[in-house]
Amino acid sequence: NILDESVFNKIAAGEVVEKPASVVKELLDNAIDAGATKITVNVLEGGIKNITITDNGSGIEPDDFVKVFVPHATSKIKTSEDLEKIGTLGFRGEALASIASVSKIELTSKTYGQTFASFCTVIGGKQSDISQVGADSGTTISVSDLFFNVPARAKFLRKPKSEQNDITNLVEKYILCNPQISFLYIADGKTILQSTGTNLFDAIYVVYGKQATDSIVKVDNYNKNSHIKVTGYIGLPTFSKANRTYQTLSINGRYINSPLVSACISNAYDHFLMKGQFPFYVLNIEIP
Ligand code: ADP
Ligand code: MG
Repeated sequence: NILDESVFNKIAAGEVVEKPASVVKELLDNAIDAGATKITVNVLEGGIKNITITDNGSGIEPDDFVKVFVPHATSKIKTSEDLEKIGTLGFRGEALASIASVSKIELTSKTYGQTFASFCTVIGGKQSDISQVGADSGTTISVSDLFFNVPARAKFLRKPKSEQNDITNLVEKYILCNPQISFLYIADGKTILQSTGTNLFDAIYVVYGKQATDSIVKVDNYNKNSHIKVTGYIGLPTFSKANRTYQTLSINGRYINSPLVSACISNAYDHFLMKGQFPFYVLNIEIP
């Protein structure tokens, strides 16, 4: 059997969309790739009912509206050589196709050159006609009823509170890894986080509060031979935690979870911390 596109997309969605937080991650990546400086994340019922993300980035051209939900459609790379110099968070063109196949989407987007915004819906992968609406430049994408057409997956969604916690943790990491972007994060009508988009110190204040900003030391280190730059903040030994939630690492601006780097930094703190305590850090490694 050659699988029908809709069946294939639902399977592919399993790789990209595990839970509401994975949808938020993909949509945030797209907003950041579009050069947004302001991003709003609005979720209802832990994102299960609705996730709406608005950005003031480049927007999507009307002609591209029919393409963005097609699997492997991306504006970010063209040839396999481009894989050697990826400068964006996304590049596989899989996220929107996958999310669209297992939810109900409304997409509104306007480029700076356009007078009107374009609008369409995609329900379970089926895209509507495109219409013109009034909207600011940038993109708003609204994802409702995740897994409405895949009951086997919907069954594994947890309580809204748990799904919301995952989203909150993710948004915190994105605020820390993108301090130049101002984020507003609202859950069930309540503002949970609002960052200023100024600098990393302010971002740390927003996420961890004054106790953290009183207890951190700036790191700014460039190694000429390796061309590796490490910047950010590390915590004083008095400001540690019994788990790794105080640790944030990005590589060239991309948030990652690295047990290796975590272990290296713990080693460096060895004589300064009690056993079972983990140091605070928010670091970005820039590497060619
Ligand atoms: P990828 O990010 O890997 O290219 P996606 O499926 O996430 O794939 O998105 C497909 C395409 O849709 C992107 O390459 C981009 O051109 C466009 N797009 C998606 N979201 C946005 C956005 N918020 N602003 C501008 N363009 C977007
Ligand atoms: Mg993407």
